[in-house]
Amino acid sequence: VSPLSDAADLEPLLEGIMDEVAPLKQEGEVNDYIPAMDHLDEENLAIALSDVNGNEVAVGDADVEFAIQSVSKVFALALALEKVGPDLWERVNREPSGDPFNSLVQLEHEEGIPRNPMINAGSLVVADVLLETCGDAQVELLDLMQRLAGDDLAIDDQVYTEERRGGDRNRAMAHLMGSFGNLTHEVDEVLDLYVHHCAVRMTTRQLARAARFLANDGVDPTSGDVIVSEPLARRINAIMLTCGTYDAAGEFAFSVGLPCKSGVSGSILAVVPDRMGAAVFSPPLDDSGNSNAGREALHLLSERLDLSIF
Ligand code: GLU
Repeated sequence: VSPLSDAADLEPLLEGIMDEVAPLKQEGEVNDYIPAMDHLDEENLAIALSDVNGNEVAVGDADVEFAIQSVSKVFALALALEKVGPDLWERVNREPSGDPFNSLVQLEHEEGIPRNPMINAGSLVVADVLLETCGDAQVELLDLMQRLAGDDLAIDDQVYTEERRGGDRNRAMAHLMGSFGNLTHEVDEVLDLYVHHCAVRMTTRQLARAARFLANDGVDPTSGDVIVSEPLARRINAIMLTCGTYDAAGEFAFSVGLPCKSGVSGSILAVVPDRMGAAVFSPPLDDSGNSNAGREALHLLSERLDLSIF
């Protein structure tokens, strides 16, 4: 039985959730520390579900493209784990940070080993590993995302250029890790790969599709390709659950109960094990940096479709 066999019937339910959460857009703030992202439309709102049997349902602005930012950390982690397996854990931990995603303090105390691969420092180490293990890491990672999304994907050139030029905090983190011997490539090279995957443009519909390999024991349901082994897929889900939503992962586990990863452009990707990928999009963020309306939409979705893993 398809997890979304009644996809058509789900549309009114999703529309209802959108109506309920729409007022929350006004209570959030669209990110402004990356000026190239000022084109984000704060009125946009979308929910998309894509199940492991290929059924999809999407409502709202589900075909609007945006730079996926930190959501890309999931795909980078999957590729790195596929390349080096558990060796990755010698260079990055698996604990929630309890600090903002771009904090430097912890890194100093913990001698250049980032808390987890979902924060910037951890993702920079992942980028370093990809530079070491891929022929052309940018091409290989983009190719993975395209295969998972089932479409060609573009890069947001403005976001890419701007973050490559700036990114003082990310640069500082990379140098600090380098000083502890936890970075093997030039800071510029690592940062370039990191900001490149953050600037990949996707739609909410494509994100839901791209999440499905994590709901399907590491196998992309469209192609049957093994993206990561089943044990690794489980571990990525565990890391998303505990570390994927900035400093609100506890609240997400409590109110949504699914592995999630959010990004500063206002999207949140969620995994419903054995069933489907889900994604929501609404640019205004709450104080913890998660999409304000998106967070509540996932909460209602999880409650009404009984999706929590707990
Ligand atoms: N490229 C952004 C940064 O490194 C990603 C932020 C995010 O989505 O959390 O600051």
